[in-house]
Amino acid sequence: MRIAVVGTGYVGLVTGTCLAESGNQVVCIDKVAAKIELLKSGGIPIYEPGLAELVHRNAKDGRLSFTTDLGAGIAEAEIVFIAVGTPQGDDGGADLSGVYAVAEQIGRHLNGYKIVVVKSTVPVGTNAEVARRIAAVTDCPFDVASNPEFLKEGAAIEDFNKPDRVVVGVRKPEVGERLRELYAPFLRTDRPFLVMTPESAEMTKYVANCMLATKISFINEMANLCERYGADINQVRRGIGHDQRIGFHFLHPGVGYGGSCFPKDIRAVIHMAKAKGVPAAMMEAVDSVNEAQKAVLGGKILSHFGPRLDGKTIAVWGLAFKPRTDDIREAPSLTLIDLLLERGAAVRVHDPEAIPNVRALYGDRLIYCDRPYGALEQADALAIVTEWNEFRNPDFEVMLRLMRQPIIFDGRNLYEPATMKRLGFQYQGIGRAMVD
Ligand code: NAD
Repeated sequence: MRIAVVGTGYVGLVTGTCLAESGNQVVCIDKVAAKIELLKSGGIPIYEPGLAELVHRNAKDGRLSFTTDLGAGIAEAEIVFIAVGTPQGDDGGADLSGVYAVAEQIGRHLNGYKIVVVKSTVPVGTNAEVARRIAAVTDCPFDVASNPEFLKEGAAIEDFNKPDRVVVGVRKPEVGERLRELYAPFLRTDRPFLVMTPESAEMTKYVANCMLATKISFINEMANLCERYGADINQVRRGIGHDQRIGFHFLHPGVGYGGSCFPKDIRAVIHMAKAKGVPAAMMEAVDSVNEAQKAVLGGKILSHFGPRLDGKTIAVWGLAFKPRTDDIREAPSLTLIDLLLERGAAVRVHDPEAIPNVRALYGDRLIYCDRPYGALEQADALAIVTEWNEFRNPDFEVMLRLMRQPIIFDGRNLYEPATMKRLGFQYQGIGRAMVD
């Protein structure tokens, strides 16, 4: 099939590339000329494991191309995906200006029947409004379908290629059938292809993210309780996870969720609820528990050193909001760094992929280290914020030699408290009883 994807970010570029890899002819469109130029010259604007290789192969084989010209980009396409950002607006709701701007542009350039697929995460009713806005500027026939995306940054290619399910929201069965054909190569192992109304499809994406964020805030609240009462959340996790009604997935205590999806999507749901006068007490609690959790690691550091950190050097391992991405949107690391700087600390940071994005925000206010051990030189403490694999089994002897004080605040519970004590570290995790 001939496909156009508007918006070449984490979702759009992965979608376009994976659809090209399965044999379709794909044009990726973005309004940011620098991004398109970079892609045309073989560069990749984001870090996502495995993406560069796939982009290069499909571009070289002529199945994947890039343009800023939406009219030309969609001219030949039968299916046009909208995958632009839907960030949080000033009122807490999703800012749909990008989606609607693209919808109107598509409408103005329609040159024959096309299916317009909304892949961006959008509140209920957006697909209907997209259809209205396109109809207002064209006489060409078209259909609009909702197709929310469930991929995870850091494993986006794998998630797109082997989705747990594909959800589409359509008004006409034949539109659903066309999309089923498009997705057939990705559903070979009997993955469900679920056809529903656009309203249910739109809501499905938000409900999924609300559930996942709820799990995170739930386990974080329980972890904080464990810590105060001398219990260990890791042991408790094992104790509950074997109950099949509960399970182990997505119940890892930490420093709170970040990223470009959970925070804004939970707030969009709260906004949707308010608009209809429906209580959203749970989602409000999930959001506020998370905001508090993002401050927990900094709080532990201040409890240890006192309110001022002048003359202290704090190392931070992990800046991306999760491992295997360079994305720092709403990352808990930023909350910590802001606090450390405000309290007068020198901050030495390391992340395998996110340093360029953090440097763009903080400039020379931080010391950037290419290697994890480099960040530890003369450090009074190490704070671990993101659980990159390379932090799981470090050389503790080297760490002890490099650090001025062997103190670790571990926001991801990577190590065992008793082992750390034996090695000579002062060690605090999340929700784990202190070892005396
Ligand atoms: P992103 O910010 O990485 O990318 C969005 C892209 O759209 C940018 O390159 C931007 O330049 C482009 N764009 C914006 N307005 C445009 C316009 N008028 N014309 C052409 N291009 C335009 O965003 P993302 O993370 O890929 O997210 C996109 C959507 O997918 C959001 O609604 C998000 O909630 C949803 N989503 C994201 C993820 C994720 O993990 N990132 C997962 C599932 C769903």
